[in-house]
Amino acid sequence: MHSTIARRLHVPAKAAIARIGHAAAIVSARPSLSRHLGTAAAAASPHPRTSHPLTPRVTGGLAVANTLVVDRAEGSWVYSKDGKKYLDFQSGIGVTNLGHCHPKVNAAAKAQMEVGVHLQANCLNSPKYIELAERIGEILPPGFAKDYQVLFSNSGAEAVENAVKVARTATGRQTVIVFQGGFHGRTLAAGSLTTAKSVYRSGYQPSMSGVHVAPFPYCYRCPVSQATDGKYCQTNCCQAPLEQLKQVIKQQTGDDVAAIIIEPSLGEGGYVFPPQSFLKDVASVAKEIGALFVADEVQTGYGRTGTYFAVEQFGVVPDILVMAKGIANGFPLSAMVASSEIMSRIKPGSVGGTYAGNVVACAAGVAVLDVLTDPAAGVLSNVRARGEQFRAGLRSIAERNPHFGIGDIRGRGLWNAMEFQSLPHTAGCAGKLVKAAYEEELLILSAGIYDTIRFIPPLTITEEEINIALEKLEKALNKVFPKA
Ligand code: PLP
Repeated sequence: MHSTIARRLHVPAKAAIARIGHAAAIVSARPSLSRHLGTAAAAASPHPRTSHPLTPRVTGGLAVANTLVVDRAEGSWVYSKDGKKYLDFQSGIGVTNLGHCHPKVNAAAKAQMEVGVHLQANCLNSPKYIELAERIGEILPPGFAKDYQVLFSNSGAEAVENAVKVARTATGRQTVIVFQGGFHGRTLAAGSLTTAKSVYRSGYQPSMSGVHVAPFPYCYRCPVSQATDGKYCQTNCCQAPLEQLKQVIKQQTGDDVAAIIIEPSLGEGGYVFPPQSFLKDVASVAKEIGALFVADEVQTGYGRTGTYFAVEQFGVVPDILVMAKGIANGFPLSAMVASSEIMSRIKPGSVGGTYAGNVVACAAGVAVLDVLTDPAAGVLSNVRARGEQFRAGLRSIAERNPHFGIGDIRGRGLWNAMEFQSLPHTAGCAGKLVKAAYEEELLILSAGIYDTIRFIPPLTITEEEINIALEKLEKALNKVFPKA
């Protein structure tokens, strides 16, 4: 095979082998091989070719939503090169939670950069790395192991995968249970735990084995709730999802389960909170079968729902807590935290990574904690007040405009969503609304497989900015649903 490529490249076989590793570069530089790979790939792939909207040199696999080119970003606002000013209700998918370029966070990162950028955590010890590990304890949920230990990594997916590795090592078991509609990352193993949309797995199978999926209670779409006209719903759950979790265990996994992994509210899956008792029930089931209860708070954590972590609002204490995104306000950093009893089972050298716990990100992370826990800054109370204000505004829009077909407004803190009824005129409206809002210079995102919009402003958003967002949103809705 290599000699075939060599013939096509007109180079010796050895050089051709070396170049196979650089196939992407060769594709553009060598038209003959480009044709070779192109034909083979085209024959193998049923998918059309895609690319980034602004450059053919970046894959379209990223699904970039618009052509905004950023000049700068500050607080709740993003300024484009073409002179526009966008109100940011995406926060980089729930990351820049203290607003863009928060002065204290950026100052901390800059100060660290002056004294060391890559002080690799296996090779060297840095004060900010140690400080962050010790200070994360300040915000862990009440009842969480006081003797906790932290394992830092770069992304949410890595932290989730570490949670699986740790749970397997600690329990000596292999299987994990996740929930339908959950999102835990796009890497191969984390993607195997992800069921928010089939696009995350389709074409990349086979997935990691040993993963079982139980239903997540999606009250707005629950067939029992619909058949009983909402009699069985959020406040009066039919308990079917819990029963089905028990069936998964009795019929598929037995007591071979290392971990039950759950988002306290589905994130990418549609910003769906379960009924109040569900997380506690799942935690009890985990305890009964000796599995670890893992809360993936990558998106719900760090104040987003009005408490440091969403589990607090459900009165559950996870065995393993996974966090990322807002943890360093934009610097790549994630962490998984568990008791030292669980964590001390990991063999030295079996986890970690070149950049894991990068010290600049850790310095930013310490500054994030300073701001988040500062009573004078009042971040959490702002989250709760602005969340109430925003949901009231959404409800008012829905009531005044029944033709928009808004079916459900839900959320806690600044974790909010609006789901449209499934009607002929609303089909596909979420995508259209994201575009219309962009034209109004409001950045929003959809979520899940139904027509749902999620709203993720910075936790520092002001009352006035919430009102501006509601105005822009209503204008965008009027564009998508013009009055007949
Ligand atoms: N877990 C949850 C709940 C998430 O929302 C995400 C990302 O959106 C991840 C894990 C994966 O994080 P990352 O994209 O940093 O790998």
